[in-house]
Amino acid sequence: MAYEGVKYQTIIEDDTIPSGVRIDELRKWCRIFHEKNLAPFYPGGTYGNMSFRVQQGENIFIITAARTSFAEELPPEAFFTVSGVDLEKAIVYASGEKNREPSSETMLHYAIFRERPDVMAILHGHCRAITQNAEKTGIVTTGEFVEPGTTKVVDSILEVLDNHNFIEIKDHGFLSLGKSIDEAGLLAIEMLEKV
Ligand SMILES: [Zn+2]
Repeated sequence: MAYEGVKYQTIIEDDTIPSGVRIDELRKWCRIFHEKNLAPFYPGGTYGNMSFRVQQGENIFIITAARTSFAEELPPEAFFTVSGVDLEKAIVYASGEKNREPSSETMLHYAIFRERPDVMAILHGHCRAITQNAEKTGIVTTGEFVEPGTTKVVDSILEVLDNHNFIEIKDHGFLSLGKSIDEAGLLAIEMLEKV
């Protein structure tokens, strides 16, 4: 569960900080996840990351920055636009604040958006109750624990993704997918209540 840092190279193409109403919707869910302990705090940040696809039919998305705390209202520079990812070379191409970097799970978000054109938002959190009860509640779970932030996590998710919208990453955390940020957020709350 320990935070392992960012495992890929980020190329910041320009310093344009993303904006728009859906950023506020993402902020709202960062706050809710914090309040419901779905994205617990650790020294230096929060276990969790959130993204949404900018436009249907494209794999460009906006994601929270690495080492971001959901305990406070997220500042504009806590968001990055990701324009592309090279999964083979583990390179992320993004725009945003030059002194920060996009979430350590950016490659994972990219792979899901690419694989699932229907998904418009991805919320990732860590929740002990969900992790411990995933299998007996029938939540789709990845095969075995792999190091967070790596392409191995990407592979483990793609193996089970299919058309599932809620997946437990074995001994790590959950992914909640939706056609909108609200839909993905409400699904996570629903699953929390279920376990
Ligand atoms: Zn995680």
